[in-house]
Amino acid sequence: MSTLTPTALGKDRNKLLVDGKTRNYKRPFSLVERESQLTEVDIIAYNLQTNKMEEATNSSIQVLRESSADKENVSSFEPPSKKIKTNDSHTESKTKLEDRLCGILCCAVCLDLPKTCYQCSNGHLMCAGCFNHLLADARIKDETATCPNCRCEINRNICIRNLAVEKAVSELPSECPFCNQKLPRYLLENHQREQCQERPSVCRYSRIGCLWEGPHHEVTQHEEGCTHPRKSGEEVMSALEVIDARHQEEKKVYKDIFALLSFEKITFNDLQLKPFRTDDFITRLFYETSRFTAFNQQWVIRAKINSDHKNPIHTINRSLSYQLVVKTKLTAPMNIYFLALSGPFGGIDVKSKIYNFEFTSENIETEYEDLPIDAAECNKVLASKTINFRLVMFQVTK
Ligand SMILES: [Zn+2]
Ligand SMILES: [Zn+2]
Ligand SMILES: [Zn+2]
Ligand SMILES: [Zn+2]
Repeated sequence: MSTLTPTALGKDRNKLLVDGKTRNYKRPFSLVERESQLTEVDIIAYNLQTNKMEEATNSSIQVLRESSADKENVSSFEPPSKKIKTNDSHTESKTKLEDRLCGILCCAVCLDLPKTCYQCSNGHLMCAGCFNHLLADARIKDETATCPNCRCEINRNICIRNLAVEKAVSELPSECPFCNQKLPRYLLENHQREQCQERPSVCRYSRIGCLWEGPHHEVTQHEEGCTHPRKSGEEVMSALEVIDARHQEEKKVYKDIFALLSFEKITFNDLQLKPFRTDDFITRLFYETSRFTAFNQQWVIRAKINSDHKNPIHTINRSLSYQLVVKTKLTAPMNIYFLALSGPFGGIDVKSKIYNFEFTSENIETEYEDLPIDAAECNKVLASKTINFRLVMFQVTK
């Protein structure tokens, strides 16, 4: 060390500083304590003293290279988990780029690659499903939703989409579950639907009762030998009856709606369900609309999550159910049919289901009826501040 004093180095040392090359011999000091440090410094000092400037720089670079090579050897004895964090290019090159990218671009919650990707204010990634689930969880628990990685607040205003991640993910290969071929994700859907020779297929005569199922490349061969096209009308009748029964069921909903539409008294309201909490010891989330008028009476809709489940947080399959409540005193019974629709204001994706209830002065509220939406849609609904929908009501008058 003493060999590096200004007197020993003289003008050459100043020149070194001006050129900013001091890093070349200063940096090793900041590295992990190594015995080679001393020799390294000694070599530089010696070379500087003998005015061999170029060689000094070269040898110091050489020493640095060796020292970093040593460092890599040292880190290769560390446990594998630590190795990833040291960003060691040596070990990373052994796994495929696509595998490494999968690890980087995956959702912080489910570890799947996100098709639609959101990020917290610190850049942690979440798929749309998990993002909505976190927001819905927070809503049910009456807490602020936080990023599972860094605990910063997340909500619809703070978190933005990350299109670069979405596009990168769509380019990453994924395996077709039928033929095991690897394809970029953006091609996979079409491949599975139209191109994959191994995709599960049915015989074109399945509608008249052929139960054959098999990979797509065997369809032609099967259909050539299929006995169903040569069967008599009598033999295929039973198959047609099954299909008929299914169609009838689907038609029934529409028939019912058409029948209701010809009633004398019809009204609809575009409503907004807002979240409230019960004043129990452990408060529970419920939704309610403000009062609305229909058939000269005041009404509200109340909704709750997983009405059959004690603690809705502990279930993945969430559902919503709702009840219609009359708020004014009835003087005569009212027979009401009602139906929730998605409505014009960015409403929910709800399947049509009609309910019927006879309101009297004693029976002022219906049971909690199922609002037919799927679990993902339910999380989406819970994640947003309010739930918009249209309620159509029909009154049957005798
Ligand atoms: Zn996820
Ligand atoms: Zn975060
Ligand atoms: Zn395939
Ligand atoms: Zn067949």
